[in-house]
Amino acid sequence: MRNSDHARDRLTVVGGGLVGSLLAVYLARRGFGVDVFERQPDPRMPGPRSSRPSINLTLCERGLAALDAVGLKDRVLALTVPVYGRRIHLIDGSTAFQPYSNRGEAIHSISRNELNAVLVAAAERERGVAYHFDQKCTGLDSRGGTVSFEHAVTKARTEVGPTKIFGADGAYSGVRLQLQKTELFDYSQQYSPQGYKELAIPAGPEGRPVLEADALHIWPRGDFMLIAFPNRDGSFTCGLYAPFHGEHSFASLTTEERLVAFMHEQFPDIAPCIPSIAEQFFARSANTMVTVRCRPWSRHGNVLLVGDAAHSILPSYGQGANAGFEDCAVLDRCIERHPNDWRGVFAELEELRRPEMDVMADLCVEHFYELREHVAEPRFLLRKAVERRLQELYPERFASLYSLVAFTRTPYSEAVRIESRQRALVDRILAVDGIEQKFRSEMTTLVEHCLQEVA
Ligand SMILES: Cc1cc2nc3c(=O)[nH]c(=O)nc-3n(C[C@H](O)[C@H](O)[C@H](O)COP(=O)(O)OP(=O)(O)OC[C@H]3O[C@@H](n4cnc5c(N)ncnc54)[C@H](O)[C@@H]3O)c2cc1C
Repeated sequence: MRNSDHARDRLTVVGGGLVGSLLAVYLARRGFGVDVFERQPDPRMPGPRSSRPSINLTLCERGLAALDAVGLKDRVLALTVPVYGRRIHLIDGSTAFQPYSNRGEAIHSISRNELNAVLVAAAERERGVAYHFDQKCTGLDSRGGTVSFEHAVTKARTEVGPTKIFGADGAYSGVRLQLQKTELFDYSQQYSPQGYKELAIPAGPEGRPVLEADALHIWPRGDFMLIAFPNRDGSFTCGLYAPFHGEHSFASLTTEERLVAFMHEQFPDIAPCIPSIAEQFFARSANTMVTVRCRPWSRHGNVLLVGDAAHSILPSYGQGANAGFEDCAVLDRCIERHPNDWRGVFAELEELRRPEMDVMADLCVEHFYELREHVAEPRFLLRKAVERRLQELYPERFASLYSLVAFTRTPYSEAVRIESRQRALVDRILAVDGIEQKFRSEMTTLVEHCLQEVA
């Protein structure tokens, strides 16, 4: 993959997070020198990284394939815990397991900071890659191809360029903010009315996990929910998702007494396992989540937005980082197809990726609502059971939307088209009188009958 023609060109990546660091690896493998400017300190150094959310991520086929292409998949997988499904915890203490796949496929839970550290180390090992930490992007001249930074401690200013600039600086991108000031740049952002806070559940005696460790645990409660991700050391990292305002909201949970009562009332099976709930909860304000769409993703063949900077989506499908990694792999193929033509590279990347990310943005908003409101409803569970049975009976012909998104690299837009055809079939099965009772005994016949009808 190395192309030494480019050895003299130095490119600039703004943001040494997940996508910026993987991008630096890809660009270096093509023979480019790369300077990565990151606002925060080095993630491998000890110390608080206060403004960066650290809640776990799940990686799936798309992200892993992009890591694999540059030989990083195994190194990353070694840091993950495989998760085979969701364990739903109802308020009465009963639980139900919903496998992600009936072929035993898993998604992979990983600490965001560990993933970031491993990617920075991998990028730094590439010839020609240099990191500049504590450097915040403060200005951009997209026409001239220059970008400026301010050092977090010394406040010294640096201007870099002319260069090609890759804005990989996340959902609240400074590079994008500068592009917003230019003509004909469309931009929209939609905050979720929900935010989230992180809570840690340590391992039990002898390092044993207090919940089953190969599942993602969800306590859906309508307007709010708790999710727990397993870690390798037997601990769990939880996200408490709740509205910013209203009855059960971050605005209403203002005292230790209220918080403890709320947690024990709503999550009675797990609240006793969360030590110092109030200390953890009040240590930080709630994080926001935002859907961002913008166009164009590039300017003057000098600047390109990638990852969350171009397309921030809600985390309900666990796709943001996976999609950002996929951007890097697609960009690499565009570079191969358009040597020495950055305008061509950037235009093709946007043509291939923007429609996909627009589809995903909508899906994530819908699915976020579904996770909070519906995953515990009998009708939803029945739909999922029917989908699983169809998948078991006809693995070549039926795949749920979730499995297409998580376990294949089918373009998101194609996955949605397939799902809408299949949804019609599942709707017909669910419309049969007394389906709940018939489900166990007659499912196979029923499904076969419906399949023949729509064939
Ligand atoms: C609660 C939650 C759960 C999620 N779960 C998943 C999941 O399970 N799976 C998944 O795939 N995705 C998930 N995501 C999405 C995922 O976190 C993002 O898509 C991913 O982090 C995007 O990577 P990025 O490198 O584009 O941006 P970021 O990870 O945000 O990195 C941007 C980097 O740029 C730096 N930066 C910012 N501004 C500047 C500046 N002005 N100058 C210089 N540097 C700057 C930041 O410090 C940071 O290091 C989740 C997101 C949230 C909020």
